[in-house]
Amino acid sequence: MVQMGNRLLIIGATGFIGRFVTESSLATGHTTYVLVRSGPVSPSKAKTIRALQDKGANILHGSLNDQPFMERILREVQVDVVISAVGGSSILDQLALVDAIKAVGTVKRFLPSEFGHDVDRADPVEPGLTMYNEKRRVRRYVEASGIPYTHICCNSIAAWPYHDNTHPADVLPPLDRFHIYGDGSIKENAPHNGTLQHFMQFEIRPDSLNYHFHVGVAAYFVAGTDIGKFTMKAIDDSRTLNKRVHFRPSCNFLNINELASLWEKKLGKTLPRVTVTEDDLITAAEENCIPQSIVASFTHDIFIKGCQVNFSLDGPNDIEVSSLYPDTPFRTVDECFNDYIGKLQEQPAKEINTPNSMVEMLAITATCG
Ligand code: NDP
Repeated sequence: MVQMGNRLLIIGATGFIGRFVTESSLATGHTTYVLVRSGPVSPSKAKTIRALQDKGANILHGSLNDQPFMERILREVQVDVVISAVGGSSILDQLALVDAIKAVGTVKRFLPSEFGHDVDRADPVEPGLTMYNEKRRVRRYVEASGIPYTHICCNSIAAWPYHDNTHPADVLPPLDRFHIYGDGSIKENAPHNGTLQHFMQFEIRPDSLNYHFHVGVAAYFVAGTDIGKFTMKAIDDSRTLNKRVHFRPSCNFLNINELASLWEKKLGKTLPRVTVTEDDLITAAEENCIPQSIVASFTHDIFIKGCQVNFSLDGPNDIEVSSLYPDTPFRTVDECFNDYIGKLQEQPAKEINTPNSMVEMLAITATCG
């Protein structure tokens, strides 16, 4: 067991997911080291670094793909746990980090940059598939290295799952219209053990008298702060050693129509719902604009193919986070949407009245990576 006061090294702390993890590490009282790449930093990144320093983070400058440097840091700082939250373009850089961790031999747990779907089960079309192949390669490399590891499969971030946005940020749910993927209403009854067959339903449409598939699967939405909070619990827990920790909070299992209705309740008005079909998502993925097309391919995998729910968690290496910590509540999507209403009230009226303005200003990857 890693005891409180042991040393964590977090790589990617200034990124979207990494910041949640780092804040949680600092709040939990771990001695927290943060690796920041050398060179010029944007004002927003500088602000993030200062904020983390103010909370007690120790900043180290360097790059994770510099193996001799990483070995030196791991030894000098006597790191117990390494958490990587590098973004999609840096996934394979982690191979050098794995070599460094293996060479040093004292790291008690490594959490590679996962923080999304179970990449061995999910099956996105390209270009998301390339990223998942890279994550799969890192998994195999970690397993072969013998380093103790934990994979965090936290599913979707609790936000509106825009399929065409480019980078995570605090983006409001839609203000002018919803994009509904598939028919948006499929939901199974037993999310912990469901299989895709439970989600596919047939209907006879009076207009055609043909059988027709309803697709548009539900997903698990997890607040960023909970990703950080439960990640901290997992690094400390012998039950998560060499396991995939799946986040399936039943309170946040929603299909996209339910998500839309929840937001309408908060807004106090209804918005038009525009169907985005499977073909639309495939077309957006095939356009191969990076990273938007990657997001489109994940959106297709989540809401059409059901990648978060089309497998049961009965494998020897799978564990569901709520079963580990049944007394620790998740923030609900309802609470997260209250935060967005707070932000909306802070926005100048002209921005609120512009159709889709918030979405365009603050593009987000609201689906999983
Ligand atoms: P970001 O792009 O926001 O941040 C990546 C971070 O890694 C930055 O701090 C970046 O630093 C740092 N970094 C990259 N390369 C290096 C390097 N060579 N050395 C040191 N630091 C480096 O990543 P995300 O938060 O979007 O993604 C992190 C993980 O979370 C990914 O695996 C992604 O797939 C997943 N994800 C999951 C989501 C979900 O909904 N579940 C949503 C979004 C992501 P710098 O500032 O210098 O570039």
